[in-house]
Amino acid sequence: MSSSPLKGVSGAKLWIGLAATPVVITATALVILPILPSWRTAEAKAEMAASPAPINGARAYGYLKDLCAIGPRPAGTDANTQQRKLVADHFTKSGATVREQPFRTRHPLTGKRVDMANLVGSWHPERLQRVVLSAHYDTRPEPDEEVDPVRHKLPFLGANDGASGVAVLMELAHHLGELKCPWGIDLVIFDGEELVYGNNPRQGEYFLGSKEFARRYADQLERGRPKFRYVAGFVLDMVGGTNLVLNQEPNSLKLAPDLVRELWAVARQIGAKSFHFTEGREVLDDHLPLNNVGIPTIDIIDFDYPYWHKADDLPENCSAQSLEEVGRVLSAWLALPRKTKGRR
Ligand SMILES: [Zn+2]
Repeated sequence: MSSSPLKGVSGAKLWIGLAATPVVITATALVILPILPSWRTAEAKAEMAASPAPINGARAYGYLKDLCAIGPRPAGTDANTQQRKLVADHFTKSGATVREQPFRTRHPLTGKRVDMANLVGSWHPERLQRVVLSAHYDTRPEPDEEVDPVRHKLPFLGANDGASGVAVLMELAHHLGELKCPWGIDLVIFDGEELVYGNNPRQGEYFLGSKEFARRYADQLERGRPKFRYVAGFVLDMVGGTNLVLNQEPNSLKLAPDLVRELWAVARQIGAKSFHFTEGREVLDDHLPLNNVGIPTIDIIDFDYPYWHKADDLPENCSAQSLEEVGRVLSAWLALPRKTKGRR
């Protein structure tokens, strides 16, 4: 997610940067809104929460360690590509139809071309109402928050800020074939969330992958494709820290309030104590581009993680239990009994 100078700035400022296709976006929102399911009876629905899938936290933590073992994984590096192939292979073996969304940018320091790609793993690709669960998989090029110039040069592994969200998605992948969920599910890993150097001045642009994903979706809707619609979206960011604290993020509350309430109600129902009913700090993250094209999307994020953008964002500061809890809440939410409107 965004660095501290951006944090606390109202979402409105970011809209300017995202609004490359404002007309399309407005039209898209109008098209989508009538088919959105109602989240209004969040607490009532949560009482019916199905048993979550048998999420295996130890296995998820194993994935987190595997990803970190590749080394730092900034956008445009071989390690980043290696990670994407590893996840693609895993999604395929778990029954998904996998595709990439390639795109490119200029490196913020050298101006050289940087090739990037989002990866999409789809379960039940024929279903017309879909949910997107996502996380960024690139890691920040440097541990910017290290004040000491020596520590600033240490490698940044992004165990929590990067690998944790991907690890939860990889664990969920095992269960999606079996899960009783009325919707199709897309697990998406975004590239280029933070190909950004420093904070003052900041060089680089945030959220390149989620902007690309949103742009393609809006573009296809504009042309009458795709036939499917996303009814909800989740961004997982820093969900693996030891002593996980998940407050409700203000932009999520503003843009997809009923989805926040419903997920937290499910968390309460299944006793997931890391989900706190407290409003947290406002974060600019990959959920904003998705909301901007009419996908109600929330950010599940622990912004109090003490090693944010520091060299100690390492596997030993993450835990299997945290990953398991987030996976259980998401799987229970997906399995909630629902009435869906129209064709699936
Ligand atoms: Zn970050």
